[in-house]
Amino acid sequence: MTTQRNIAVERTFLAIKPDGVQRSLVGEIIRRFEAKGFTLVGMKFMKVSRELAEQHYGVHRERPFFQGLVEFITSGPVVAMVWEGDGVIASARKMIGATNPLTAEPGTIRGDYGVNIGRNIIHGSDAPETAQQEVSLWFKEEELASWEPSLTPWIKE
Ligand code: ADP
Repeated sequence: MTTQRNIAVERTFLAIKPDGVQRSLVGEIIRRFEAKGFTLVGMKFMKVSRELAEQHYGVHRERPFFQGLVEFITSGPVVAMVWEGDGVIASARKMIGATNPLTAEPGTIRGDYGVNIGRNIIHGSDAPETAQQEVSLWFKEEELASWEPSLTPWIKE
């Protein structure tokens, strides 16, 4: 078996929101992505500034829930993460489940742990462009660690 560094590695931005942290779901959520076979390349536990929250959710600026969303995301610490792996953007979205936890499938994070759209536990980038934007909004390049897990040959050909 050979280990080869992937040339174009896909990365996504995930954030465990203040409700996920308060409900002690941090370990369980990280466990799911680790067990799936994705690679953690960046992580920080942090309070989110209003400026960062407004930038991150800028696309929703005109929506009625925007102020509440910003209040909520700045209300307590979050776990901001970058995960790497083939197909990680779409796969993480599937693992997270639909925006509204009540309609999210059982087996997904929101489907298993949530009941309210405004308390849906985790954020995940929805497409390659947003993933790239969000990774660079939340992390400096030097905060990301490129590494080759020794299990890689057991996870992919
Ligand atoms: P997702 O997080 O699944 O990508 P969106 O980008 O549509 O979903 O929305 C961003 C976040 O805004 C959601 O995760 C949720 O926390 C919040 N949100 C979306 N729609 C509503 C709503 N109708 N009421 C309250 N909060 C909402």
